[in-house]
Amino acid sequence: MADFSAPLRLRLDGDALLANWRWLKRLGGAAACGAAIKANGYGLGSTAVMRRLLEVGCRDFFVSNWAEAAVLEPLVGEGVSLSVLHGVREEDMTVALASRARPVLCTEGQIARWRAADGGPCDVMVDTGMNRLGLDWRGDVSALVARLDIVTLHSHLASADEDTPLSQDQLERFSALRSQVRAARYSLANSAGICLGAAYAFDMTRPGIALYGGVPREEVAGHIRQVVFPEAQVLQRRRVRAGDTIGYNATHRAAAEMEIAVVNLGYADGYLRGFSGRGSMTVGDKSLPVVGRVSMDLTAVDVSALSDITEGDWLGVDYALVEAAAVSGLSQYELLTGLGARFDRIWR
Ligand SMILES: *Cc1c(COP(=O)(O)O)cnc(C)c1O
Repeated sequence: MADFSAPLRLRLDGDALLANWRWLKRLGGAAACGAAIKANGYGLGSTAVMRRLLEVGCRDFFVSNWAEAAVLEPLVGEGVSLSVLHGVREEDMTVALASRARPVLCTEGQIARWRAADGGPCDVMVDTGMNRLGLDWRGDVSALVARLDIVTLHSHLASADEDTPLSQDQLERFSALRSQVRAARYSLANSAGICLGAAYAFDMTRPGIALYGGVPREEVAGHIRQVVFPEAQVLQRRRVRAGDTIGYNATHRAAAEMEIAVVNLGYADGYLRGFSGRGSMTVGDKSLPVVGRVSMDLTAVDVSALSDITEGDWLGVDYALVEAAAVSGLSQYELLTGLGARFDRIWR
């Protein structure tokens, strides 16, 4: 593949990634700052993200399942920890017992399985009000986890990106658990939770989206740098006559003669149809509106204002996450994790 480059690429700003991690770490005060790198590092590439964060001192990483963990195991050296958030199924046990990663046990069945196998150190997830994963906080959690060697006891905030009493309730429930359940460390906050203040940080935080340029709460917008900059190459430039329509289902009709560029990017790459007629791309200081429907592999933009855009030129896709989410109707999480395998991922 040495000489081959794809017609679409993600420019990834490594400095911005590290700056975001350092900022989140500072906000957490004395707490360690980990990193959620599940879903292939939110679409950026989990190995590249983990390598970079290791260099600046991040030591705690989180993935969802054992296939994700297997890819990263070579990077798990002394003092580095990799936790598997979905715990262990029966089918995972052989891999899990031989792995340098450890499970975050979430159910009584998983705890029984891990105990029966004498699995060793583990994490445990307690649900404090989200009703997603973990032991119910109202149960006898300390009895359920008796004799487990718990490295980190976790819970997860449901609505830390909003102003709601639920976050405070979860904080109080988790604080009570800390005094009842013995673990080496306690961890509650995701990106948005970190922004709620140092009380939420406990011993370790688990940011994901904000590392990658997502803005979890409006008030921190100025502190988070964009990391992901998609670019796509022009495949064809064409003249559209007044009255002609553009793309599937003819959703755009040219009011006057115009020029469009058809670029190598579509919904199969994660540029979903919510951007149809609403997204934009940029060359220099010129903004180029998306016209018509986004297709599977192609998108058209209006280049009437730029006579020199031609086949082979690269356009920057406007992908600042807050704005792109508003334009497309997608969440910042969907915008990142949907970015497909056809992009070259190029770090700077
Ligand atoms: C994904 C995840 C995180 C990271 O959440 P962000 O909102 O992306 O910061 C933290 N903890 C758990 C348990 C998660 O599943």
